[in-house]
Amino acid sequence: MLSQEQRERYQRNILIPGFGESGQERLLDGSVCIVGLGGLGSSAALYLAAAGVGRLGLIDSDTLELSNLQRQVVHTTDRLGMSKARSAEMTLRALNPGLTLQTAQIRVTAENAGDLFSAYDFVVEATDNFAAKFLINDACLECRTPFATAGILALAGQMMFVVPGKTPCLRCAVPVEPLGVPTTGELGVLGAVPGVLGSLEALAAIRFLAGLWKPAADGSGAVLSVDGESLRWRTTRLPRNPSCRCAMLWSIS
Ligand SMILES: [Zn+2]
Repeated sequence: MLSQEQRERYQRNILIPGFGESGQERLLDGSVCIVGLGGLGSSAALYLAAAGVGRLGLIDSDTLELSNLQRQVVHTTDRLGMSKARSAEMTLRALNPGLTLQTAQIRVTAENAGDLFSAYDFVVEATDNFAAKFLINDACLECRTPFATAGILALAGQMMFVVPGKTPCLRCAVPVEPLGVPTTGELGVLGAVPGVLGSLEALAAIRFLAGLWKPAADGSGAVLSVDGESLRWRTTRLPRNPSCRCAMLWSIS
């Protein structure tokens, strides 16, 4: 049951046809682990907290630097040098005091990822390198945790939503970790790009937690791409890859 304060705070969620009070109750009972509190993680964390996801994990091993603030909008100038996990916690606490926030200033590794992710309903992958994206993909397949994954560079970005056993995974789209991919430290990135992509990851998490998502009949997924130079969106259908490591999960779903 929602309190009067919750009914008022989340009124615009509750009014959405098909969402209602039951959708809000599901969000408040739900949990999301956000890995990376940079550009993608900033916008994802702000919208997940504002929407009322009851428990958020905030994971980042870094401290805040001046060059982060052009895009990492969950942080503020007076927190330079502070742990990004702690800084995000302060912002989200002020935004929505009723949530449970669990912070960790750690690096996610193959050893700790399974324990970490199996304690949450959903993972938002918001890291800045392919090694971490593949590690998170594989750990989420292992513990069957749904996740959103995104990448950004300069004026462009992509996003995928994965439910292990019910959609293709990141390796279905990119079977082997690409090497030599330029980073935002080399080619830059406009802050609004991770703003858009991180918001999409939050949207994927919210619609899943609220029970609004249904798997495609053919088990396909999609890659959403935005090109900020032409201001164009593209949705590319992604079929399952039968030789992918995620294939063994299909038959038991
Ligand atoms: Zn796969």
